[in-house]
Amino acid sequence: MAWNGTVTCSECYNTGHNRNGCPRRKERYEAALAVPEEDRGYSERRIIQDMEYKKRRRSSRKCSYCGEQGHNRRSCSKLKEHVGYVAKQEKAFRAAFVEHLNETGLNIGALVATSSDDNTQGLHIVTSINWDDVSITTSHQALRRFIIAKPVHLLCESQRNRNHFNIAAPDHWSVGPAWSEKENRWQEKHHAVEVVSPSATPATPNKDWTESNKEIKEFFKDRASWQWPTKPGDNYYSCEWWDLGENIQEIKETS
Ligand SMILES: [Zn+2]
Ligand SMILES: [Zn+2]
Repeated sequence: MAWNGTVTCSECYNTGHNRNGCPRRKERYEAALAVPEEDRGYSERRIIQDMEYKKRRRSSRKCSYCGEQGHNRRSCSKLKEHVGYVAKQEKAFRAAFVEHLNETGLNIGALVATSSDDNTQGLHIVTSINWDDVSITTSHQALRRFIIAKPVHLLCESQRNRNHFNIAAPDHWSVGPAWSEKENRWQEKHHAVEVVSPSATPATPNKDWTESNKEIKEFFKDRASWQWPTKPGDNYYSCEWWDLGENIQEIKETS
């Protein structure tokens, strides 16, 4: 590689690709293959050997998700399937989440109150909603503190007094068996607010959030397929956070 980062091909001396991606080398390989075996010269035998060795190495590489050979994480069909299952739940959860905000009138401008006993006590006015903190991949443990609000008694002060809150997950959500129990959702116990005076405008997340799979990617980043539950509901790794009314996880494992 040259000082400016441009690759030069050691096969054809053109820049922009290396020997492995060289079109001329590929042509040479194909031409060598076309020669009957007994007529092949040294350079023909050599390039066939080289190319086949590389091919073998490539196909013996293991997928870091499922451990199988012949493909990688990016093309792993198992991973795609598992991500798809979580993405379905994410979609359903996010729809229910927005619906709940709008039922309760929780949006910028809403007046909220907290029952917490620390210095965040008292009436607050919501100044922003942090949508990026809302994902089923984290919310199944407890909703993150996605509400940013200013204490009403400090409204006239210029300092940026802001506190972060969440809400308690409502009982009517159709959560799955892996959604954590109410008593374990301590973040919600300590930081949940209730709407005292609803906002006049409904909460409208932007399209990026509605369609984002960023959090799911993050969730699967260090996971391997052995962490995908084989028996639904009774596994530490279970992803049955939202009840989709269909048990894909179970069907996939028993089929
Ligand atoms: Zn080349
Ligand atoms: Zn795989």
